Parts: sequence; structure tokens; C-alpha cells
Amino acid sequence: MYPLLTVDIPHLRENVRTLRALCEARGIRITAVTKVFRGDPVIARVLVEEGITMLGDARVDNLERMQDIKAEKWLIRPPMLSEVSRLVRFGDASLNTEMAVIKAIDEEAGRQGKKHKIILMADLGDIREGYVDSEELITEAKRTAGMKNVELYGIGVNLTCFSFIQYDNEKLTELRDLGRRVEEETGVKLQVISGGNSATVDLMLNGGIPEGVNNLRLGESVLFGKERAKYQYLPGTHSDVFTLETEIVELKEKPSLPWGEVGVDSYGNRPTFTDRGPRRLKAICALGKQDFDAATTVPCDPGIIILGASSDHLMLDVTDSVEEYQVGGLVKLKLGYFSTMRAFTSEYVKKEYIY
Ligand SMILES: *Cc1c(COP(=O)(O)O)cnc(C)c1O
Repeated sequence: MYPLLTVDIPHLRENVRTLRALCEARGIRITAVTKVFRGDPVIARVLVEEGITMLGDARVDNLERMQDIKAEKWLIRPPMLSEVSRLVRFGDASLNTEMAVIKAIDEEAGRQGKKHKIILMADLGDIREGYVDSEELITEAKRTAGMKNVELYGIGVNLTCFSFIQYDNEKLTELRDLGRRVEEETGVKLQVISGGNSATVDLMLNGGIPEGVNNLRLGESVLFGKERAKYQYLPGTHSDVFTLETEIVELKEKPSLPWGEVGVDSYGNRPTFTDRGPRRLKAICALGKQDFDAATTVPCDPGIIILGASSDHLMLDVTDSVEEYQVGGLVKLKLGYFSTMRAFTSEYVKKEYIY
């Protein structure tokens, strides 16, 4: 049954080992981020078998999917007020930026007889989640420390996700110093100073993370072996943990340029086409935007060119392909971050694991 997504478990294991060794040599513990694979418990279990003790996901539904996995589970998106009860049930910790939500978590944790760990996020420039005003963060840290059913667990920062502001030594020193001030003002020893995501890995490798930052929340680097500042693959990792096979439903010689009057696409943009000649061998595969993302996908056959995709059709130029293709045959694709995320979200994509 196709499209078929394959997860290479041995390659994933090697990635985890490599990233753990790199981080632990610098006193940094990993919270492995599971949102790309939708909290698939088979994959989450592999991470835990390889020594990961903390898992982070942006959605409570995914934490629920991992409920039988023994690890500390973090919600890494600020919780919705409306999901607090399920958060307390399925999560052990969460990244927070709003007192109304923290109060609701405290009350709910009391009702469920649990303790929930709170990490307060500082916004150091990306203009996504977090307190811009450090005095406000400190005030809310004091209030959190005074609550009964939540624990002030730490502080964190997230950059390079919306404004693509880079991590540097100055920003992480600011975070570390903010952590020290929170400790002085609250009398609580913070367990976690969380210095970012896979875009922090390059800084870490260059010795730029200051002493005291002790956690990174890593998705892309663990799953794809790619750091996210210079977008380089890390030695000792694999980029092909997630591959997808898709079936060819049409194979015909066609010109590279369309004919007729060109209009605009669904986004209002006028498409452009590269003239590769009048007779090219084109394949259509039964895969579309519902199932993958063309911009973060690379064909395994280096001679194939991805021309584009609509909701349900993937158009390829296979004229210069290494392998020979036929209708009913398969084309293998290597999936990157957003493509993998869509493949896991699509009901139409079957999944298999190789061990
Ligand atoms: C998605 C996410 C991460 C993981 O990012 P990667 O670049 O995949 O490592 C970390 N922290 C937060 C808050 C996130 O939303």
C-alpha cells in the first residue's frame, strides 16, 4: 500500500547517540522533541531506550499518544486554557508565559492530586512566545513559586522559529543571568535553564553556550542530523531516518514548458517554468500536498527533479534519472522536517519501521 513512509530505527538510534554525546560532553541534557512524528509511541520508545529521559511535544494529543512511555513529558507550546485538564493528566511539565494559565494549572493539579512543573519562557528577540520584560518574568516566577501544586522548574528561550533571530553567547548569557536573578528572588533552585532548539547546536559545538545553561529541546538535529543555524549535517548522523515511497500513476514524454495563457496559483502567485527542452520524461506520483511538502523533500535518485505538487499529484522530471521507471513502479523520497510532519499527519500515508 502506497504512499509508504519508512522509519529507519537503527539510523535514528545512531543520531540520538551522537547528539547525546555532543550535548552531555558540555553538561547539557536533551529534551527530545516529538512533534515531527506526531508523538508516535514506537519512535518515542526508541528515543527513551537510547537514554532520552525528557520528551517534548507542542500538542497534548501527542503527549496522550505517548502516555505509556516512561519519560518526563513537556508541553513545549504555551498551553491553551481549555486544555489544562488534559495537560495535567498527560504532561509533567510545560513552557508557560501567562499567569492565568499557570493559575489554572495549579488549581487543576490540585484537583488531580498531581504536581506540574512550570518553565517560564523569556522572549529574547524572536517575537514568538515569552516575556520580553524580565521584571515581569521575575514577578510571575515569584507568584509561581508561591503556588501549592506547581513547581517552578526553570526558564527557557526559543529563537529562530519566527523571526529567525540567531542564538549567540550574549543572548544565552542573558538567559543564564536571568535564571540567577529568579533564583535569588524566589529562593528556588532552578532545575532547567533551557537554551533553545536545534538552532543552538552550532553555538554549542563552538563552545558558545555559557556555563549554567543545561538543557536543549531538540527535534531536527536528533531526527535528521541537521543543526539549524548553518543547516549543516552533523558527522555521525543520518539524514534518511524518514523516507517515503510513492507510486507512479503516469509516465509520459511531455514538453518542459506548458502551453496556453498562464494564470495565478491558489496563493495568487504567477508560476514560472524552466525550459529544459521540448521532450522530457515526466512522471506523476500518487502523492500530494496533503501528504508531504515538496520544498523539504529530496528524491533518493539524484537524477530526478521535483517539478512541483498539487494536493494529490507530484510531478517529477525523470529524464536524467539513474534508475529506469515504469507505471506502477515506485519513487523513493527522503523527507525533511515539514515533509515528515505532514506524512505523519496524513491518514493516507502508511507507516513501517525497519529495525
Ligand atoms: C519545535 C520546537 C523545538 C524543536 O525545534 P528543532 O529545531 O526541531 O530542534 C524546541 N522548542 C520549541 C518551543 C519548539 O516549538
